[in-house]
Amino acid sequence: MSGSDIEVLIEKFARLPGLGPRSARRAVLELIKNKNSLLWPLIQALENTANNTKICTRCGNFDLIDPCNICNDPKRDNTLLCIVEGVADLWALERSGCFKGLYHITGGLLSAIDGIRPEDLNLENLSLKINELNISEVIMALSATLEGQTTAHYLAKFLDDTSVKVSGLARGIPVGGELDFLDDGTLTTALKSRRPL
Ligand SMILES: [Zn+2]
Repeated sequence: MSGSDIEVLIEKFARLPGLGPRSARRAVLELIKNKNSLLWPLIQALENTANNTKICTRCGNFDLIDPCNICNDPKRDNTLLCIVEGVADLWALERSGCFKGLYHITGGLLSAIDGIRPEDLNLENLSLKINELNISEVIMALSATLEGQTTAHYLAKFLDDTSVKVSGLARGIPVGGELDFLDDGTLTTALKSRRPL
């Protein structure tokens, strides 16, 4: 392995989200220093992931099987469908353990600026899936950004001719959040979506 091979490796690591050139250098150095405990196991894990990861044809999740473990699980509530932008969002909801229904990944958000149109999103089998699975409620778990909300409204209209209830995530004060630290948008939305106590 020459110095330039190491540079190539650092450059690849630096392209990963959350890692800049500095962190990439530190990570690569750590791997080289700990060949047996880090580098070889990482190579093995990367190879397994590259060889065995599939995209679930039902929801868009990454898994070793298709349909994925979530779509395959008979214990999941198949009356609830949660629409998320990407796999990271699905994983975040799964980590929280608060949602036991099924998912649909759009693979992006509508954006006039970036030229992302409905046909660029993964929506083809959505209405078919809703009818097949007996879905009674679709939850839009999309970002509280202009693109996220535009997409949620588009999808709500798209689902207008089905009989499902469409809901969105509440926007408000995070658990443990102090009013003083909230941005104006969050505080305004929290006040607008107030509820009886
Ligand atoms: Zn799936």
